Amino acid sequence: MKPTPITVARGDGIGPEIMQATLDILRAAGARLDIEEIEIGEQVYLQGNTSGLSDGAWDSLRRTRIFLKSPITTPQGGGYKSLNVTIRKTLGLFANVRPCISYAPFVETKFPGMNVVVIRENEEDTYAGIEHRQTDEVAQCLKLISRPGCERICRYAFEYAVANGRKKVTCLTKDNIMKVTDGLFHKVFDEIAAEYPQIENEHWIVDIGTARLATAPEKFDVIVTPNLYGDIVSDITAEMTGSVGMAGSANIGEDFAMFEAIHGSAPDISGQGIANPSGLLHGAIMMLVHIGQADVAESIHNAWLKTLEDGLHTGEIASDKHTKIKCRTNRFAQEIMLRLGQKPTRLTPVSYDSSEGIKTKIQRRPPAEKTLVGVDVFIHKNDVSPDELAEKLEKASDDRLQIKLITNRGVKVWPQGFPETFCTDHWRCRFKKTVNNGYTVTHDHILKLLGRIREEELDFIKTENLCEFDGEPAYSLGQGE
Ligand code: NAD
Repeated sequence: MKPTPITVARGDGIGPEIMQATLDILRAAGARLDIEEIEIGEQVYLQGNTSGLSDGAWDSLRRTRIFLKSPITTPQGGGYKSLNVTIRKTLGLFANVRPCISYAPFVETKFPGMNVVVIRENEEDTYAGIEHRQTDEVAQCLKLISRPGCERICRYAFEYAVANGRKKVTCLTKDNIMKVTDGLFHKVFDEIAAEYPQIENEHWIVDIGTARLATAPEKFDVIVTPNLYGDIVSDITAEMTGSVGMAGSANIGEDFAMFEAIHGSAPDISGQGIANPSGLLHGAIMMLVHIGQADVAESIHNAWLKTLEDGLHTGEIASDKHTKIKCRTNRFAQEIMLRLGQKPTRLTPVSYDSSEGIKTKIQRRPPAEKTLVGVDVFIHKNDVSPDELAEKLEKASDDRLQIKLITNRGVKVWPQGFPETFCTDHWRCRFKKTVNNGYTVTHDHILKLLGRIREEELDFIKTENLCEFDGEPAYSLGQGE
């Protein structure tokens, strides 16, 4: 069979050590790979390449479309963007898949029965990285959630469950608070779930859901969640298995995929030859399944389980009770290679199918009928009371767009606010058309309103149109509205 071209980067810190161990095991197991190496990470940043990737690296990624990547050190400060985020977004890697499994009793954990896969949306949410300081006192970060993004990740989670014999998909969101953005994620999850009656589904509010996960992980199977929650939940879940050095991560897109360990470059143990290569090896195992080499993936995974079971452990997972030999990185890799072809007897052996990759087509909907019904104008003003501000905004109002509500950090302060509410210099002023006056609202009316607000010597910093989509209001109410 023709070897599959892949791009490999050895990364920073312990990266080169664990990559060498992983490549040695891949080679010994007969993985059919045509490897192109690229440089990424700290040295590349320091040479002035702010993306963290060397020249030619993108060409290699475009050629192979498969990336096996060691962790890298992200320089602190200096305005560097995270290379991981850049790669995920540039290559459209929308799904981050992190299986978090306990290997008790051989790896000590408080959660011996744990076997949870966290599927994190990887491109949207606050990780769009669109932030502004708007006033002296207030900064904002935009949380962007799209219907196609939700559809793709939720469908991926259910397809993953089907392909991997899993029984349940749990969605975690905070849609009791973020009714429009997280509400969309939850709504789409319910729509997709209905297409998979054979898979149980449930939704938890992310805070209590994560609390349950951290105390009773055996109640969870596959978890799907937006980007920020997924980032936090997947680290908690990985750590609960006993070591952050154990879990691998797949970043999957329509055309590209990247595989790595979930941990970082561990500068504290770099160069000592003691790092656990298992996280990256698990990334490589997921890569082999993805490129159709399930036979090799299965052989490596079972040899790895047998190695753990035989009491050959790296230092950070070693225990008096279950470790026979505390291994350095190279020795641990050699012991895995010696066990290729063997299966564990106490841990459950794995078996992988060479099934086709997971497909996640999106069904774009026809545009809804969109009606403009008002505008939120955000104003920067200090040393003003809500009533004083409202007086100016009433002067700026007309029959089409009248000031209806002022909030400060989301809390209603006019009309009938509470004098106790703490106010910053950042005001959201909601103008809507007078109910049933028969007028329509257009962009021109909003522009004229802004002109009148300026005449009142108010500093407007941004606007958000208030719309209805197919007659449904598409904006949140102010707290207390
Ligand atoms: P880290 O994951 O590198 O290390 C956390 C702790 O876990 C350390 O004590 C470390 O020694 C230990 N550890 C991690 N991997 C191990 C392994 N394979 N074997 C044994 N012990 C291991 O997290 P950090 O210290 O917060 O981050 C270090 C650097 O890595 C930072 O620059 C960070 O930005 C970067 N980072 C990169 C990635 C990535 O490239 N995907 C992910 C996370 C962090």
